[in-house]
Amino acid sequence: MSQPQQFAPQQFAPQQFASDNYAGICPEAWAAMEAANAGSAPAYGNDDWTQRAADAFRALFASDCEVFFAFNGTAANSLALAALCQSYHSVICSSSAHVETDECGAPEFFSNGSKLLVATTADGKLTPEAIRGVATSRSDIHFPKPRVVTITQPTETGQVYSIDEIRAIAATCRALGLKLHMDGARFAHACAHLGCDPADITWRAGVDVLCFGGTKNGMAVGEAILFFDRALAQDFDYRCKQAGQLASKMRFLAAPWVGMLESGAWLRNAEHANGCASQLAAAIRDLPEVAPMFPVEANALFLQAPAALLEDLRERGWSFYTFIGGGARFMFAWDSDPARVDELAADIRAAREASAAIAA
Ligand SMILES: *Cc1c(COP(=O)(O)O)cnc(C)c1O
Repeated sequence: MSQPQQFAPQQFAPQQFASDNYAGICPEAWAAMEAANAGSAPAYGNDDWTQRAADAFRALFASDCEVFFAFNGTAANSLALAALCQSYHSVICSSSAHVETDECGAPEFFSNGSKLLVATTADGKLTPEAIRGVATSRSDIHFPKPRVVTITQPTETGQVYSIDEIRAIAATCRALGLKLHMDGARFAHACAHLGCDPADITWRAGVDVLCFGGTKNGMAVGEAILFFDRALAQDFDYRCKQAGQLASKMRFLAAPWVGMLESGAWLRNAEHANGCASQLAAAIRDLPEVAPMFPVEANALFLQAPAALLEDLRERGWSFYTFIGGGARFMFAWDSDPARVDELAADIRAAREASAAIAA
């Protein structure tokens, strides 16, 4: 075998907090990838790593759930929703849900047309009232029949549904004959915030299917789809294969999960990321004209501030998105450097002082 090329150490630009998927791969996931790479193994998920990862999920959730692996969250959400629906069904979601705003119609595509019904919510969280309103707005043959509710935990706005909120939503779903799906692209961050058992905000609270995100939690790629009601997973393996989501070298999607779950890194990474969001929120709490748009409960901080101040912040070298309500979104990851968070806080303070001086 030939010697691999040696790469010179790379110079990285200073860390940014524009998205939590700017981060690299955490050591625990990387170590498991390396271990899985030490030899060959059977393909298409018939290997020990895939079995071990699925078992680690079953242990973590204290549930005999069915576990599948997909390459990304769009595929995981879309295929899970498609599995719950016929093409004439509909899916109730929040107006800011990733499935509605950021998946390019994939849920509708993979379900052969199941329509997303958007419930307008003040802050991104669905409520039993909002669900009931949409689900009971029509009952005639001309309207796509409501079949599933999907909630994002934590929400796209960085808020966490409490155990009681999920129970209440699940009770509403049961009363209306709807299934409950959870987009858990940052599920670990919700568990870290609540300090709860993962089962308490999923199957014990009435969630039927969970998409558990690995990418934003410190893996290179990969999301797990957990069916707590095994009957709902019927033929899901075929659905994954048809959608191009059956990895032939499945062990490289599965092994990082073994590293994350068996070491506890999944939770530590999320605690660290959440801590950085709280750190930034605390550091700028006293600033006038600069305020969090939503309660800071997970790894996100959305900052409402005058446009000139945000422009100044960009000129000071910071990248961020403003696609939700015009505020600046900062997202933290397992590798976020607290010293760099302090630098951001100092620059927000400096930008605020500069804009105050101009106004005076
Ligand atoms: C990132 C994210 C996903 C998954 O996105 P992909 O880019 O498809 O991996 C799903 N839901 C939410 C809420 C997300 O933030």
